[in-house]
Amino acid sequence: MIVVMRNGAPRESVAAVVERVKELGFQAHLSEGEERTIIGIIGDKRPQNEHVFRLMEDVEKVVHILRPFKLASRDFHPLDTVVPINGHSIGGNQVIVMAGPCAVESREQFLETAYAVKEAGAHILRGGVFKPRTSPYSFQGLGEPGLEMLAEVKERTGLAIISEVMAPEQVPLMAQCADILQVGTRNMQNYNLLHALGEAGKPVLLKRGMMSTMEELLMSAEYILSHGNYRVMLCERGIRTFETYTRNTLDLSAVPVLKQATHLPVVVDPSHATGNWEWVEPLSRASIAAGADGLLIEVHPHPDKALSDGTQSLRPERFAELIQRARAVAEAVGRSL
Ligand code: PEP
Ligand code: MN
Repeated sequence: MIVVMRNGAPRESVAAVVERVKELGFQAHLSEGEERTIIGIIGDKRPQNEHVFRLMEDVEKVVHILRPFKLASRDFHPLDTVVPINGHSIGGNQVIVMAGPCAVESREQFLETAYAVKEAGAHILRGGVFKPRTSPYSFQGLGEPGLEMLAEVKERTGLAIISEVMAPEQVPLMAQCADILQVGTRNMQNYNLLHALGEAGKPVLLKRGMMSTMEELLMSAEYILSHGNYRVMLCERGIRTFETYTRNTLDLSAVPVLKQATHLPVVVDPSHATGNWEWVEPLSRASIAAGADGLLIEVHPHPDKALSDGTQSLRPERFAELIQRARAVAEAVGRSL
């Protein structure tokens, strides 16, 4: 249930509603727009309480959110959520590009890639130190020693960093070195992790499970939001279908569908969706045309030597071309890049 306050309702009236929600034993989540405030009441299923709120001062209406996700829904927060990261805004007019290697392999490799993607025009640097690999025999990431490299490269390049967190115990440490904590496709429904990220309060990029519906993705986002962290971004990274020519199938329809259902920014990862560097550029352009707020792209200076995901990694010069061509699409749809 949400309580929509009248345009310009005074603070005291909002506070009175919040107080009443607490008295009744529920949690109140506030969405303060420029014009009006909306109060989300989670867990209240008693219809008689609707009247309690409807009769309060400056309450315009009380609405039931029919979808199972509440705080992620556009009903609760009609305007787009914008997540500020190091001087950039994700979810605003600019399309934000996050790029870098799949995994941090060495100080030199990470630094070289970081300078190259920065030069090409990327806004945020990606690089995993904890890698969720399908095979236990594959490179698992540098782990904790890699965190120092994240810190050093961030310091030297001035780029904000996005990196994956796999377990709740890693959250406090990762929150110190990374600006955005990435939840991988394999952990989208790791509820203990989502809970920990809700409490950590750092921006989160939540990837869609490769076999999850959009509603399941939104319910996972709801876990983070309901624990008090509203800085959540969603990421479409391809889903499993019968198709075998691509690593996954990029569900491009997720972009407009999610943008309508939720206020959260929507990012697309065409690298893991296709598994092949040659298709990363066309799908980057298509994602921007469909309304994506950002891209997550793998770049490696020597893809043939990469310890993970080399086949889908772009060489820096190809990535620079991609940025130019993607910018033309962004401008054609009234956005910048
Ligand atoms: C990654 O970003 O390197 C990654 C492992 O992605 P996903 O979780 O989407 O497979
Ligand atoms: Mn990867």
